[in-house]
Amino acid sequence: MGARTGKEYLERLAASKPTVRIQGESLNEAIPSHPAFRNVTQTYAKLYDLQHESQLRDVMTYESPTSGERVGTSFMVPRTHEDLAKRRNMMRTWANHSNGMLGRTGDYLNSALMALSEARDWFAQADPAYADNMRRYYEMVREQDLLTTHTLIPPQVNRSVSGSQQAQGSVSARIVREDDNGVVINGARMLATIGPIADELLVFPSTVLRGTPDDAPYSYAFAIPCDAPGLRFLCRQSLDHGRSHFDEPLSSRFEEMDAVVIFDDVHVPYERCFMLGNPELCNSFYADTSAVVHMTHQVATRTTAKTEFMLGLISLLTDAIGIEQFQHVQENIAEVIIALETARAMMRAAEADASPNQFGVMTPKWEPLNACRNWYPKLYQRFPAILRKLGASGLMALPTEADLTGPSAGDIETYLQAKNLDGPERLKLFRLAWDTALSDFAGRQELYEYYFFGDPVRMAGALVGSYDREPYRERVRQFLDRRD
Ligand SMILES: Cc1cc2nc3c(=O)[nH]c(=O)nc-3n(C[C@H](O)[C@H](O)[C@H](O)COP(=O)(O)OP(=O)(O)OC[C@H]3O[C@@H](n4cnc5c(N)ncnc54)[C@H](O)[C@@H]3O)c2cc1C
Repeated sequence: MGARTGKEYLERLAASKPTVRIQGESLNEAIPSHPAFRNVTQTYAKLYDLQHESQLRDVMTYESPTSGERVGTSFMVPRTHEDLAKRRNMMRTWANHSNGMLGRTGDYLNSALMALSEARDWFAQADPAYADNMRRYYEMVREQDLLTTHTLIPPQVNRSVSGSQQAQGSVSARIVREDDNGVVINGARMLATIGPIADELLVFPSTVLRGTPDDAPYSYAFAIPCDAPGLRFLCRQSLDHGRSHFDEPLSSRFEEMDAVVIFDDVHVPYERCFMLGNPELCNSFYADTSAVVHMTHQVATRTTAKTEFMLGLISLLTDAIGIEQFQHVQENIAEVIIALETARAMMRAAEADASPNQFGVMTPKWEPLNACRNWYPKLYQRFPAILRKLGASGLMALPTEADLTGPSAGDIETYLQAKNLDGPERLKLFRLAWDTALSDFAGRQELYEYYFFGDPVRMAGALVGSYDREPYRERVRQFLDRRD
């Protein structure tokens, strides 16, 4: 089949039958028809269509090594620096389309699957069958161009104990039994962004597992279809309120949905298991395979596109209302410019210093990307804050599109004009700024970026623990001993 079109994505999704609970109802209609998912699935469909635009074809796809079909570039195993650049260009094309507002476009986890599949020897340590399963699964996702999401975190019941100790072990998703051809999973996990609109769910190791027998049932990596029997998605309320693109330019396009995932005796066949037990290997799943590096390469590409969008939006806003000459406004704009150039420099450093990993995969230098993924969650919070400060009351003087043609049309022309924009143009711009900085969609984006890779506090601890600081300690020791 190879790289999908948008139509193919929508048709497959419409034919699937996931169990989705949303706002008190159990969904019966086709997912792409439901108001909570209609617009975002159209956006995802557009991303798949981009793979087929003639001028983008060579960026977005490459020839499958097994079928010879054109398949998505994010599945491509990079062997050279040029391959990495091709991957980045593909990821950039999708990121530009959403201005970085979509966090779960397929390239994110395709990158992980690519790296995991290449790390066969690592999986084979536990069982050669896991290595085969991983490779076969990656190839299936690649050849069918499936959209995957993941769920990693045990429910937030009591964080002072491990998942196995929460509510007598009855809450977190765990292996409850094995049968002749697989394992059975019960319990829940948080959170699956795009769960209801994806094809496949990757249930990968959660953060730190203890190596105790109690934690063994919680140590696993497997994949299931999103409509697997017994699997349920419990959605939050939709942030797409059915308004026009003018009124809610981001929410009406990019509302990805987040859902709690509940496993009610879900059977997982062995051929879809990549690790069972082995808490220590589960704990090093992402690092030892370089999956985290390739995932971060995608994320840094996306967040660079998002930072460019923020700079453009803030600049249009400050131009519009004539505040650009004030020094503190320039200081804020400078902050965004510096962030953008820093993000670009980190990416360039990571690619320039890339080298093959132990499995022969050209892998970006981890340290700049690790710094970037530790930096951006906090940095991002500044952009909406700057927009709110500079937009001020303009972010609340926001009639809707309907007012442009209603009795207020004249008032909008007169009283909502800006220095260089007429009333309707200014309204359009400020509604975008509102959806970026102040709407419920904007609030979710802030939370999402903050927790994208996990808890920033514990990530900082991991960074400190893993960063080689010894050369710098040694330099100071030598200076202390210096006699001249
Ligand atoms: C919008 C959104 C979308 C998401 N999408 C996905 C997804 O698609 N897939 C997925 O797997 N996950 C997803 N997540 C979950 C994300 O991975 C977690 O939010 C993140 O790992 C933090 O875990 P938590 O939310 O359970 O917070 P908690 O771990 O419960 O932390 C809550 C607070 O307590 C503190 N805390 C808790 N435990 C400790 C500790 N041991 N040491 C120090 N401080 C502690 C934290 O610092 C934090 O301030 C999503 C989250 C959000 C907000």
